[in-house]
Amino acid sequence: MKKLLVASLLLVSLFIAGFSTHAAAADIEIPVVNYHVISYDPEPNNLYQYSVEEFEKQMAYLKENGYSSLSINQYFEILDGTAAMPAKPILITFDDSTDDFYPNAFPILEKYDLKATQFTIADWVNDSQSMTAEEITTVMEKGIDIQNHTSTHPSLDQLSYDEQYNEINDATATLKSITGETTEVFAYPYGAYNDDTLAVVENLGFKGAFTIEGGVSTDEDSRYELPRFMILNGDTLDDFIRKLSTGH
Ligand SMILES: [Zn+2]
Repeated sequence: MKKLLVASLLLVSLFIAGFSTHAAAADIEIPVVNYHVISYDPEPNNLYQYSVEEFEKQMAYLKENGYSSLSINQYFEILDGTAAMPAKPILITFDDSTDDFYPNAFPILEKYDLKATQFTIADWVNDSQSMTAEEITTVMEKGIDIQNHTSTHPSLDQLSYDEQYNEINDATATLKSITGETTEVFAYPYGAYNDDTLAVVENLGFKGAFTIEGGVSTDEDSRYELPRFMILNGDTLDDFIRKLSTGH
């Protein structure tokens, strides 16, 4: 009888220990927002072009409501449990390093003292519709992290393992020649990837990679399938506030 009691107590404490570990892990939730073009004159039917005025309302909301925008390193330190999580963390991301970022989005980020990450298409830098190398190094000094979004923005799931490897690894080299730093985080163009892509980013030693699946990221997500939610043309401040908490 005594043995049975000890065994039951052991089981109960194991259950409680397991439960509290799980509960603590679930406490790490970080919304990751994704933008593309921020424009004074967005094309009405282009989902990826977003109004400067609406963008500013969202950045002002974050500042006024006590959100802490994270650097990409802080984001992964929090997921790893090596840095404390602020009360209201957010990771702000942009994809495609288009030429509107420097004149339109960056001044608003500076005005509200917000950090952000720009997933940059390496071979397009200095092209007519992309950021220049000088703009990239300028924004880096003001809290913008430059990370890897391939060399030429293909749908990676249509490529062989070797082609995918080269797209991403060549971008690392090109971006390093511009920034002096090695990119450690990736975002899948079009959100498209397959098992080979997951293997490539892991084999190249990336800390993590972002999808555009929607949802709020947690420390329990696969590091190579971290969810982001997109803010699309027509989204209001209310949509933004809802997505911050639900990711959808
Ligand atoms: Zn893209």
